[in-house]
Amino acid sequence: MAFTLRFSDGKTVDHALGKIVCVGRNYAEHAHELNNPVPETPLLFIKPSTSAVAMEEEIVVPVERGDVHFETELAILIGQPLTRASEAQAREAIIGMGLALDLTLRDVQARLKEKSHPWELAKGFDGACPLSHFVAVDGHAVDWQDVRFSLDLDGEPRQRGHSSDMLFPVVALIAEISQSFTLNPGDVVLTGTPKGVGPLPTGARLDLAIEGYLHVESRTV
Ligand code: ZN
Repeated sequence: MAFTLRFSDGKTVDHALGKIVCVGRNYAEHAHELNNPVPETPLLFIKPSTSAVAMEEEIVVPVERGDVHFETELAILIGQPLTRASEAQAREAIIGMGLALDLTLRDVQARLKEKSHPWELAKGFDGACPLSHFVAVDGHAVDWQDVRFSLDLDGEPRQRGHSSDMLFPVVALIAEISQSFTLNPGDVVLTGTPKGVGPLPTGARLDLAIEGYLHVESRTV
């Protein structure tokens, strides 16, 4: 079933979900925990729209494919076309803020990395992107250097993110992405995961939040 973008007041977003553009290693401490170098330019990849599922519903963990890691990320909803945009244009184009899990088949990814192959099999599979509903925001009204978000797993704090720790901050990242990939209304940008990633177990209870904006409860099967 196709994923439907929604605002947190229940309103449907006027755009269908497009592509999901992601950045890897956008937090130095996360790059270190997986023994990866800190990049000098954003490491970008794309999850297809078919990977999205509603975060508020049961999240299916494909355990038969090896370790499935959770990566909790701030998700930005784009509302205007952006091609080779300036930071001012990028800020203007933001219409929503939500949360995503960039689910990653870590064993599969390790094999792909060894061969220097692309990551889609590890990150683009059906169900690889649980997405929350979005809080409607004005890109100018949010302090993008001071957004805090979190994941608790079965009541245990697992990930704590602060946007000021991003190597490529939200607005600059969106502008940079648009130098290579035109962003269209309905596209979503995932801004990278802070440290604390790990295997996502089945039968777990998830509490995710953007401080002051959004709280989502979910569970895995
Ligand atoms: Zn990620």
